[in-house]
Amino acid sequence: MVNTRTPLIAGNWKLNLDHLQAIAFVQKLAWSLSDAKHDPSTVEVAVFPPFTDIRSVQTLVAADKLPIAYGAQDVSEHESGAYTGEISAAFLRALECGYVVVGHSERRTLHNETDEQIAGKVAAAVAQNVVPVICVGETSDDLEKHGPSAVPVAQLKVALSKISSTADIVVAYEPVWAIGSGQAATPEQAENVAAALREVIRETLGDDVAQKTRILYGGSVKANNIAGFMREPNVDGALVGGASLDLNEFSSIVRYQKHVGV
Ligand code: PEP
Repeated sequence: MVNTRTPLIAGNWKLNLDHLQAIAFVQKLAWSLSDAKHDPSTVEVAVFPPFTDIRSVQTLVAADKLPIAYGAQDVSEHESGAYTGEISAAFLRALECGYVVVGHSERRTLHNETDEQIAGKVAAAVAQNVVPVICVGETSDDLEKHGPSAVPVAQLKVALSKISSTADIVVAYEPVWAIGSGQAATPEQAENVAAALREVIRETLGDDVAQKTRILYGGSVKANNIAGFMREPNVDGALVGGASLDLNEFSSIVRYQKHVGV
């Protein structure tokens, strides 16, 4: 079957760049892509700023009609109520967020998020038409004990357990040992796990969703290794951390088709 999925390159800024820096970055990113004659219909680009930046990014993107999507780095599993510090999916929708990262390994480890909570967050996002970018991945211990796909597959099964087959989702395979380490997985490793994850989507949500869902690879993606991942049939883009804060590097990753002739 032909892969008709539009690749997605997503930049997770984590706890970096305030709202003024975000405005400058998004504006310059748009200029850089436009100068390079990047066609947004061939590769979608998205940024994930801190919550406090989102309104500013929304205003800029809307005013200048920039071909840049944006989303949040987390969302509450609750709709409203006594949950100090949390942000609901409805609030993200009101700011026209297209996406939200759910279950990033830093949330799982630093905030003890469970697979069950992550399933609740996925369902909350889907209910508001905010596409969850569902992160799964194994630690180096998991890799040694269980092999490469067992943990991400188990995490994804739970994450998908509260949504229906009409859901629009993105999955990001992010081996924890590759995040921020400078030691990316090989394209073959990423492809093998991505194929197993697509199978989980097929079993849980059906063939149509499995065919249309984009599966990203994340973990030390740079301009000099993106092309290898993008050649793999089940890898439809990248979730980029550190390199998404470097304008030239990120712009170059988005334009991988041009500079490497994929
Ligand atoms: C991430 O944090 O999701 C990530 C992939 O980080 P990095 O690209 O820095 O490895």
